[in-house]
Order: sequence, then structure tokens, then C-alpha cells
Amino acid sequence: MLHTLTITQAHEKLKKKEISAQELVRACIKRTEEVDKSLNAIVHRSFDRALEEAKKIDDQGVSDHPLSAIPYFAKDVYCEEGVATTACSNILREKNYIPPFDSTTTKRLKAAGAISLGKTNTDEFTMGASTETSCYGVTKNPWDTSRVAGGSSGGSAAAVAADEGFFALATDTGGSIRQPAGYCGVAGIRTTYGRTSRYGVMSMASSLDTIGPICKNVEDLAIVLETIAGKDPMDGTTGDEPVPNYRSMLTKDVKGLKIGIPKEYFIDGMNAEVEGAVREAAKVLQSLGATMQEISLPHTKYATPCYYVLCPCEVSSNMARYDGVRYGHTVKDPADLLDYYVRVRSEGFGPEVKRRIMIGTYALSAGYFDAYYRQAQKVRTLIKQDFTEAFTKVDVILSPVSPTPAFKVGAHENDPIAMYLEDVFLDGQVMAGIPALSVNCGFSKSVTPSSVEGLPIGLQLMGPQWGEGVILRAAYAYEQATVWHTKRPAIA
Ligand code: GLN
Repeated sequence: MLHTLTITQAHEKLKKKEISAQELVRACIKRTEEVDKSLNAIVHRSFDRALEEAKKIDDQGVSDHPLSAIPYFAKDVYCEEGVATTACSNILREKNYIPPFDSTTTKRLKAAGAISLGKTNTDEFTMGASTETSCYGVTKNPWDTSRVAGGSSGGSAAAVAADEGFFALATDTGGSIRQPAGYCGVAGIRTTYGRTSRYGVMSMASSLDTIGPICKNVEDLAIVLETIAGKDPMDGTTGDEPVPNYRSMLTKDVKGLKIGIPKEYFIDGMNAEVEGAVREAAKVLQSLGATMQEISLPHTKYATPCYYVLCPCEVSSNMARYDGVRYGHTVKDPADLLDYYVRVRSEGFGPEVKRRIMIGTYALSAGYFDAYYRQAQKVRTLIKQDFTEAFTKVDVILSPVSPTPAFKVGAHENDPIAMYLEDVFLDGQVMAGIPALSVNCGFSKSVTPSSVEGLPIGLQLMGPQWGEGVILRAAYAYEQATVWHTKRPAIA
């Protein structure tokens, strides 16, 4: 049962030599082989390499770094030298693109001694909220395999919830860490834009993409974040802001912490169990010394529409590099260069990627730029101002992660707008560039009467720019006072 340990517990056992790095890696491999047939969370495995690295660590001895010898997975957009990385897209899958370099994040983890086990499933180039746009098929929710694990980092969230790895790297452009973490009952943090390096991570929308971990609990989030965060000369958008020792900020109480409850995040028609669990979580934090006050973020309703203008604009630019010339999918006997591009991209990209390229190209075109792109950027500023204003009154803002628990596979199949609305509580923070995390705050019983524990419900905590510490502190105190984070799914 070594795979069920948390990072801190595994580190202690490694240091005391009660277990070896190889045993830890083997436990994760065995677990993955047992459960992943029914989940489809993992798309590329580098198990032999992981075992070799574990042997090296056993020979040299485990270091004091808490991630030394800890096995993890990375979302299939993190370049890792020598390991297939395909963004779950046919355009890179055909020849299994193998990067010749490491992303800054996987490099920092390597330096800490963490052991990569391979890649997790994602929506194609991270576009989606369910992993249903992945060329490898959907990842199933470990709590109920008829439901999605969320997206786009559904593979990372499911892998952690099912104890396949101790943590998983993910990305959050418009909610892709928080929503799947919420749907799978694990902890995930979106960082301040610029807190973590995007170097070597395949881009979707460069002004919105952020890098962060999904873990079994908040203490583990703090450990991984401390290791990967901070200025990177390879990514000019990373900030100079020093990275605090997040673990030292974790305390069991939140005395004096001011928490805001935004009225716009408790909307008509939201699932009653979700609302109940989130309001209950607010009471728990209050009992631990926090004060609650209602606040308003008046431009909230524009966040998702704004996101779905700006994100496709950046997508249309970022996807231009996949032309089949340097890497990826190719076609035979093209009539000319244009025919080559058209066929490579028509065959290589799936419908959601094509939809965004078309929307983005349209919104950026000369006649529409002012009406869509510039307008959306102006509204983005208003949304950011809402948060700046709110954080003069409160330290943390609390809300649900999603309006409902995980939906059924195929539920939004022919309705892209319904899929986009999955992000309603997740895009405001993106527009503002602020950090936000998701932790489990209970289970919905009525959704799956047949399942013992029901489906997990996510609690979202948002902080001011560079305020990862304060939200980790509030989430840690909440976890210490509740049992939800200790629950694990019984996977069939
Ligand atoms: N659901 C959002 C989208 O489809 C989130 C994607 C993300 O954060 N990568 O764009």
C-alpha cells in the first residue's frame, strides 16, 4: 500500500530507510497497471527509466529534499527530454514527438530527485473541460467511471486520486487544474501568472497559461510549489518576487483572516449540494477564527465570454507552429506547399482546436479586432480591478469550483457552449492573473446513489497576486479540521 502514502509520509519512510526508492516506484507502477485500464489517465509510460533512476538514488542515498525519490506524472504538454510529449493531439502523436530538452519545471523536479513516471491525459492542447478532446480518448473519473474526471488536466487529477503517482504536474489556462482537482477530490493550485515558468510547456494561450501541481493534500501542494516556483531566465514573464517557504506558512488556525464570499458566485440554478458543501466549508473556516463577509465582483458575468474571445485569439497564433514541416504529422504527395499545410492541419487537429483557430483568427482580423479582441482586453482590466478592490477588504475569496459535480461522459458532446460554461467560476481569476486553489469539501450523495461516497465537491480559495501562501494556509487549516482529503475512491 505504499502508493497510498502522501509525499511527506513517503519521505519520512525513505529517510528512515524503511522503504527504498525502487519499492516506491514499483508500487506506483503496479498500481497504475491495476487501475489505469479502467481510468485511461496515463498516455505515455517511462517506467524503465523511472526504475533506473530509483536504483541510482538507492545507490547514492535519498537526499533531504522532500521530493527525493518521489514518483510523479506530468501532463502531456510538459516537455521532458527523451519522453514522448504529444499534447494528446494527432498532429504530434503520429511520430510521437520526443523533446530533446526539459521544461524548467521537470528540470527543477529532476534536480530535487523526483522521479517521472510518464505523461497524463489532457484535452487536445489543453482545450476542453473533460479530456474528451484527447486523441487517446476520455479519462474516467475514479469515483464513478461513467463520469468525466474533468479537464483539461483530467489525467493528472485522476492519476493522483487513484494513487498512481504521488503528485502530477498540470496546467491551468481557464480552470484546468482546479476543475479536475475538484471533480476528483484532490488538491490543485493555479499560481499567480508569472510565479511558475512556462518554458518547455506547450502553450495554449500564453497570457493565461499557468503551471501548477495536483496533489493528495495541501501540504504536498506546498512542497511541490516551493520546488518548482520562481524566476526563470528562460521565461521572461516570470516575476522576481521571492518564493516563500510555503510549508512554514501552514498553521492549524486562521485567526483574524478575512474571507470574502462573492455574491456573484452563488448563482440561481447551481446544484444545492455544491452550494451546501461550500457554505459548510465557510462555517468551518469561521470556527477556526476567520471572519466572513459578503463581497461583490460585479464584472464576474463577463469573465467566461472574455476568456472565450482572448483564449482562441492566442490559440490561433500559438497553433501556427504545427505545420508538419519540422515535426509531427506529415502527408504524402502534396500538390504544393499550401496543400501540404492544409492537409497536415486538417488531419492533425481535432474539431475543438480547429474551432478555436477559426474563432481567434476571425476576432483578430482587421475588421473585427476592435470589436472583439480590444474590447475583451478592456473588460479584462475591469475584472482585474474588481479583484484588486476586493482584496483591499479581504485576504481570501471563497467560492465553489464548479456549479455541479462531475458530469457524465458525453453529456456536452454536441454542445461546445455548455462545455465552455463549465468554467463560470474559474475564468475571473485567470483574467486577473491571481492564484486560486481547489480542495475537496465533501461529497454529493444524491448524484450517485449507488456509489458509497458519492462525487467529490471542490472548494475554491482565491488570493491576491503572489498570495499563494495565504490560500495554502487557509486550505491547510480547513483540511486539518475536516476528513474529506483522506477519502479515496474504490476503483472497480
Ligand atoms: N475549459 C477551459 C478551456 O477549454 C480550460 C482549459 C485550460 O485551463 N487549459 O479552455
